[in-house]
Amino acid sequence: MNEIKIFSPATVANVACGFDVLGFCLDNVGDDMVIRKVDKKGIKITHIEGFDLPYEAEKNVAGVSALAMYDAINVDFGFEIEIYKNIKPGSGIGSSAASAVGSVFGMNELLGRPFNKTELTQFAIKGEALASKCEHADNLAPAMFGGFTLVKGIKPLQILEIPSPEDLYATIIHPQIEIKTSESRAVLPQDVSLSDAITQWSNVGSLIHALHTSDYDLIKDSLHDVIIEPHRSKLIPHYNEVKQIMLEAGALGACISGSGPSIFSLCKGEEIANNVAQALKKAYSLITDIEFDIHVSKINTKGVKIC
Ligand code: ADP
Repeated sequence: MNEIKIFSPATVANVACGFDVLGFCLDNVGDDMVIRKVDKKGIKITHIEGFDLPYEAEKNVAGVSALAMYDAINVDFGFEIEIYKNIKPGSGIGSSAASAVGSVFGMNELLGRPFNKTELTQFAIKGEALASKCEHADNLAPAMFGGFTLVKGIKPLQILEIPSPEDLYATIIHPQIEIKTSESRAVLPQDVSLSDAITQWSNVGSLIHALHTSDYDLIKDSLHDVIIEPHRSKLIPHYNEVKQIMLEAGALGACISGSGPSIFSLCKGEEIANNVAQALKKAYSLITDIEFDIHVSKINTKGVKIC
């Protein structure tokens, strides 16, 4: 096999109380990529469609993660990468992570799987660092493993796979505005009160328990963020109204996806997830003239895959 086509999914990171550690994977939103083994040594990006991104491997997250893996193997051939981007860069649903994961996953398949998924994520971290200027894996882990993941630590990299209840769906609204990562970092508090910290870790613990036991009431009760959301939500126009619409339409909870501007909700069952989408479609254009996309997705338990 010299060529492989893969689907690399969008993901939601910073799942409410699980800031910087908890993420989940989407089913029907993602990038397509083709990875090809070629005689010429090195990594070359030969085609990009969808969004304007650099072709130089060193400037594209797909290329940087591929180069990190290429440096770790000793082969007398190279790889070409084609990227068909559907996830808008900077949307808050893991655009760069999908590219970073896709290239190394595809190369690994063509090589006969010498690396496990944690090792592949380690390479992908190098690519993601190009986009976010720091090493983190909260979008990479769900894109690579699927389902919900908890990044227990980066050094050494430790990823825990958390089960997803069968009936859990996500509805996400992506307002077409740009929030600079530097801006969303700058609003974060330097210090956290002990009482907020206690609330937050109690919610993370109970959310993980609820995902393990498919306890939807407990998911609802735990999907809160008292530390990050109060600050970052101010950067997203009409955040509180959108969240309210999602909750009134039946969502279990809602919060900022990644560092925004996307907002995710989790819902029990496809019908409620569609109701949330309908309610948003109706109300959002009445509130504002910001363009938007809406995604409804079952939690994708497989992650990146061969098409
Ligand atoms: P998201 O918020 O959707 O996770 P990121 O903020 O992580 O997106 O990444 C977007 C940034 O990464 C943009 O500045 C973009 O130009 C850069 N970038 C470089 N290569 C890629 C790529 N292959 N896919 C997406 N973004 C890329």
